[in-house]
Amino acid sequence: MGESYATAFRMKAACERVTGFRFDKPAGYRFAPGQHFRLTLTTLGGDQTRTFSHASSPLDPFLEMATRLTGSPFKVALGDLVRGDEAAIDGPHGGFVVPAGAGQLCLLAGGVGITPARSIVRDAEQRRSGLRIRLFYGNHDQACIPYSGEFAEYERKDRRFKVVHVLEDPLPGWAGERGLITADILRRYVDPLDGWCFFVSGPPGMVSAMRDVLGELSVPSERISAEEFAGYG
Ligand SMILES: Cc1cc2nc3c(=O)[nH]c(=O)nc-3n(C[C@H](O)[C@H](O)[C@H](O)COP(=O)(O)OP(=O)(O)OC[C@H]3O[C@@H](n4cnc5c(N)ncnc54)[C@H](O)[C@@H]3O)c2cc1C
Repeated sequence: MGESYATAFRMKAACERVTGFRFDKPAGYRFAPGQHFRLTLTTLGGDQTRTFSHASSPLDPFLEMATRLTGSPFKVALGDLVRGDEAAIDGPHGGFVVPAGAGQLCLLAGGVGITPARSIVRDAEQRRSGLRIRLFYGNHDQACIPYSGEFAEYERKDRRFKVVHVLEDPLPGWAGERGLITADILRRYVDPLDGWCFFVSGPPGMVSAMRDVLGELSVPSERISAEEFAGYG
């Protein structure tokens, strides 16, 4: 669908580095989990557009996105939105979607790259799709892991869903995986690797590193989908 206007409201910051925003869903707006949209705002530098993955699921009555407020003119305008302000939304776009017939998903997300993965997981849980999902979620430390409470809740309710947190530089007391997502970590939780579809989302550097990891594991390229958050270095 083309451009439509939605009113915005800001959510409580998930943590210091990531803030969520919700928009009323424009009438007739439909998307598949994992797709993205383009948001245009009037900034001090004129109208500017950025791309965001849907973080919400199609069943949610609102559109949700999550981002880092970097101080760019666009993000200042985003942070200044108040309930009722209008924003132009153009979407949905993109093919980062679960293929029909897929039964096992392995999601690899880095930082704010969690947004399309959260949409896919939330949709699967809301619909009780029966999908088997392993989410490998890389972050810096325990202080900022957006949606971690929700993922923990899904894990409690659904034995087919598992989240593996991998923290680059964890605060003291962390007993989980540390460093970056590696082939060894994937092997520990997904064995055998056959039959899984791999979805990678995050900044370009992370996506490229994950392609190398999946190459090391000889995962065929047709079983790998990637969403690069161009604009994050
Ligand atoms: C498919 C996809 C999905 C994404 N999903 C998310 C998401 O869910 N959450 C998230 O935080 N980010 C996401 N991003 C990245 C997002 O679009 C921004 O690039 C990022 O948030 C940084 O924006 P900024 O304004 O903070 O930084 P800036 O440094 O100001 O801008 C980032 C980039 O935007 C480009 N740009 C600058 N000015 C303009 C302009 N006037 N019009 C258009 N482009 C311009 C530049 O090439 C620059 O490299 C996604 C990107 C893609 C491609």
